Amino acid sequence: MSGAKPRVLRGIPASPGIHVGAAFMVDRRRLKIRRRTVPRGRLDEETARFRAALETSVRQLEAIRARSQQAGERQPVAVLEAHLLMLRDESLVQGTLDIIRRDAVNAEWALGATLAKVLRAFEDIQDEYFRERRADVEFVGERVMRNLLGQAADLRPPAGGHAVLVAHELSPADTAGLGRDAVGALVTAAGSRTAHTAIVARALELPAVVGVAGLLGAVGAGDRVIVDGYRGEIVVRPTRAMVREAEERAACLRSRALALVDEAAGPAETPMCLSANIELEEEVEAALRYGAEGVGLFRTEFLFMGRGAPNESQQHRLYERILKRLGDRPATIRTLDMGGDKNPELFRPAPELNPAMGLRSIRLSLRHPGLFLAQLRALLRASTAGTLRILFPLIACPSELERALEYLDQARAQLRARGQAMAGRIEVGMMVEVPSAVMLADSFARQVDFFSLGTNDLIQYALAVDRHNEQLAYLNEPLHPAVLRMLDQVVRAARQAGIRVALCGEMAGEPQNLPVLLGLGLDEISMTPASLPLARHVLRRLSPEATQALWRDLRMCTHPRETERLVKEFLAAHLPDLAC
Ligand code: PEP
Ligand code: MG
Repeated sequence: MSGAKPRVLRGIPASPGIHVGAAFMVDRRRLKIRRRTVPRGRLDEETARFRAALETSVRQLEAIRARSQQAGERQPVAVLEAHLLMLRDESLVQGTLDIIRRDAVNAEWALGATLAKVLRAFEDIQDEYFRERRADVEFVGERVMRNLLGQAADLRPPAGGHAVLVAHELSPADTAGLGRDAVGALVTAAGSRTAHTAIVARALELPAVVGVAGLLGAVGAGDRVIVDGYRGEIVVRPTRAMVREAEERAACLRSRALALVDEAAGPAETPMCLSANIELEEEVEAALRYGAEGVGLFRTEFLFMGRGAPNESQQHRLYERILKRLGDRPATIRTLDMGGDKNPELFRPAPELNPAMGLRSIRLSLRHPGLFLAQLRALLRASTAGTLRILFPLIACPSELERALEYLDQARAQLRARGQAMAGRIEVGMMVEVPSAVMLADSFARQVDFFSLGTNDLIQYALAVDRHNEQLAYLNEPLHPAVLRMLDQVVRAARQAGIRVALCGEMAGEPQNLPVLLGLGLDEISMTPASLPLARHVLRRLSPEATQALWRDLRMCTHPRETERLVKEFLAAHLPDLAC
């Protein structure tokens, strides 16, 4: 392998950071199981062996759950609980015991047959949520199988914590069991932004890239791998020069991050408010540590990704905890933005040819008024605990906003009728992430308190570039003149109406875009917590006058190469050390 050429593979950036280490291959699936006939007189022994393996699995998962609980990791705990329930599932346990007795076979074979039957039920289901549930069954089954075979069920990466864990997929028990310091980075062939690995990696602050096509064919055990969780890129068997460059970039980013985190503790002093995008309650801590002035986007759909939707009181308590933890900093909480690539069982729509333009987001909430009202009531009830801002996603049509606002009024009336308290004044805003909302921004601006520009979707819809299609990544250009003009139109509409305008798409977290966003005149930008210190550092060094001049030039551009060139020249003149 050592003589093989370097290979660059692209995936989905799941958690920021750069790490170089040796590949620790985790093949959770390749188990060889042989059928063995068990003499009738020894079947009790065989069933006892199976029960013992189940009990060992329960104890292992309970130990991991306790560790996760201690570390305050709520999401893995919830998933581990679901896994523990599966270990008591009739179809798995009784199914296996029945086969052992009926066919007089070994427990491994019987378990394999039972799992195959359960997994067959998942076949042909394209839905991402169900794919992940299928994976849960596989992970639990494999743990029991390994315990039966006397193999280590938990991952034992090499000591030192530097290895790059490479797997087709990891279970939450795997990632939670690893803890914060066991490996240096994670890379998986499967997975998406909503996959557990991505969420847990962010919460553990481990660099991670998921959804890397061709990963297992390209990496061998012990191969050196560069993981770039910012770019969503890995380099397998890099040249010495590539490693040096990555290590320099990592060291540069690390030392800058350290200095910047200290700096973040100081007063904000930036012309735009800097907020955090979060998906889990646990991330509030990181947001505060990195100096967020508030939460600019809480993606509530992740609460619904596990088994069963949280009810009104569970949501109320969670939103309240977040608001309390933020003190006087505002929390912008977005109502469910489900669908598209985020499809829990609850909302499983009929298969759609084009889910990105399908029954998703606010459209789904309006289709499920019971659920929508429960979320709105939970938000309103939590509003007394801090400064809440409610945000409606994917508004494309005036009637959607009107109906969402009507439901909000209805939720208020229901709480009043129940005698429950809520804040007197709560800001209500909408995501501007569909070109129709840009074109009607002047009218929408009269009906809301703020706009939040969702450039991830806006770019996708404006440039007809699927945001998840790696082949089209080169067309996904935040600095495309058409995109910049759209942003301009929305900011002007907001100014005209005297409302605030924020931007919470990924482009806000990329330092080279900051002069553009400052020149544009946004009030707030919101990004992954770990990106905040550098953003603050960069913004403190930029003068509004210089960036406004840049913006005036950018507005005249008609070609993406022109905007890129202007931005590069600006960076070279004003922020020459931004190179790493
Ligand atoms: C966006 O579309 O830019 C956005 C912030 O929302 P999401 O990434 O959740 O679609
Ligand atoms: Mg969006």
